[in-house]
Amino acid sequence: MTTYRCDQCGNKTRFDVYDTVARRRFEHADFAGDIEIEEEEILERTIQKVVCRWCDTPDQVIETGADR
Ligand SMILES: [Zn+2]
Repeated sequence: MTTYRCDQCGNKTRFDVYDTVARRRFEHADFAGDIEIEEEEILERTIQKVVCRWCDTPDQVIETGADR
């Protein structure tokens, strides 16, 4: 995951992240028809925008790094 900072207000912890994800999921249905996700792999993830929860704007939000 990526961490962000809002240069406008200094917020480093609260953002709305808008993304689109392509994923593979192994869905396992039991006889009752309940589906359980046993495995999930993110194939592709695209960030559309990151909006500061305090300023409500994406304009000053910058990436500060990734935690892995
Ligand atoms: Zn902000």
